[in-house]
Amino acid sequence: MSTNWQAISEQINAVTGRPFKVVSAQALSGGDINSAFRLQGDDRSYFVKLNRAALVTMFEAEFAGLQEMAKAQAVRVPAPIVCGKTDGHAFLVLENIEFGCSNKDSDRLLGRQLALMHQQQQPFFGWRRDNTIGSTLQINSQSNDWLSFWREQRLAFQLKLAANKGYGGMLQANGERLCSDMAALFANYLPQPSLLHGDLWAGNAAVDKQECPVIFDPACYYGDREADLAMTELFGGFSRDFYAAYQAVWPLDHGYGIRKNFYNLYHILNHVNLFGGGYLRQAESMMAMLLSEIR
Ligand code: ADP
Repeated sequence: MSTNWQAISEQINAVTGRPFKVVSAQALSGGDINSAFRLQGDDRSYFVKLNRAALVTMFEAEFAGLQEMAKAQAVRVPAPIVCGKTDGHAFLVLENIEFGCSNKDSDRLLGRQLALMHQQQQPFFGWRRDNTIGSTLQINSQSNDWLSFWREQRLAFQLKLAANKGYGGMLQANGERLCSDMAALFANYLPQPSLLHGDLWAGNAAVDKQECPVIFDPACYYGDREADLAMTELFGGFSRDFYAAYQAVWPLDHGYGIRKNFYNLYHILNHVNLFGGGYLRQAESMMAMLLSEIR
């Protein structure tokens, strides 16, 4: 289906109040889920993501997440411009950011800025809306109890999806044991409802041309900051300078070393559900390791 760039540019006109005439739409590589374009006009450009019209709520949630992080004024995020549907496509238009090269200073700055974003808190866990992690639904119903939030809306939710896809046996048995015994991992630790990016792997962080850190493609909610940091470690790509700078602003509890595996189990279960059995063994060995810590 061809893209109706004219309709998208009219939406840009309407929200910015400045006429925007499309000169070219250049397809970009790098996205996991959506197709991405640089939309060049005669006086400015935008970054645009497209997907099937049925997935417009995914873009609405991303739009809201970028607004939430922008409001915290801690880390630069692309300004969300407009999202909606046109001719069979869902679209999300963002400020276009030219990326540069990171260095020790920008790594440190991201560490400090992320700690400041995590200091943005609200009185309950969850968020005002659900969103997606990868393309999987992520439930963010508000809760005063972090353990039950994580148990029900993160672990049990992914385990149920896995069961529906036929992943039973040990994965489910050990998953259930972890859900019932997880409190043991939180002895003497009181998580706080921090604003989280929610999907902070290295592919969702960059620096702009001024070497200022930028984070994007979020799955925001308010939760334990350790969950965001854990994800930065899951696939690597964040430097020692980043972690040292984070800890200098807001040191981590010593139990993070174990809990990070617990938090990352959520993402690995999501990978089992999205990409299949290759991740199954990783999920099973993470569970076995966590259960051995609890016993
Ligand atoms: P997906 O939702 O498909 O995973 P991303 O949001 O990760 O897509 O974007 C895909 C790629 O496009 C990123 O890896 C990044 O290189 C680039 N990108 C993301 N946001 C912007 C932006 N606002 N301006 C310019 N390039 C961007």
